[in-house]
Amino acid sequence: MYVIDSTAIFLRKAVYDKMVTIPEIVDEIKDEKSRFYMSLINLKVENSKKEFEILVRETAKRTGDIYKLSDADIKLIAKALELKATLVTDDYSIQNVAKSLGLKCEGIIQKGITKSFKWLKICRGCGKKVDNNIKACPICGSEVVLRRVKR
Ligand SMILES: [Zn+2]
Repeated sequence: MYVIDSTAIFLRKAVYDKMVTIPEIVDEIKDEKSRFYMSLINLKVENSKKEFEILVRETAKRTGDIYKLSDADIKLIAKALELKATLVTDDYSIQNVAKSLGLKCEGIIQKGITKSFKWLKICRGCGKKVDNNIKACPICGSEVVLRRVKR
């Protein structure tokens, strides 16, 4: 079973036998051609389950990807977690959280990430790591930015 992101539809790359997605992803697909394409492929649409969404959110907080993920992204990962299925997406944050949960990922255009990473908040001025909810550096007052680091 393949759980697919909207990019696979937009790029006409939904080429798997058994595919599933969530209603929130279907809602992202508004243009007529893509909707027509979607009607031609063998795609099931299922709601994600709360218990898996909670697990995904906890993992995304741990990896720091929570800031990069939409509600639909969280639900998509939750669906993949429920079905223990391969997740098809080009989104690095989705891939990162999915991999942290032990799921398989497949890229659409881009190759999947080979190493997992996490996001850290780092001061742009002095480089100090700061807590997630802090917006300015407590040492020098500079802006705090998200940075991707290897685990
Ligand atoms: Zn600083």
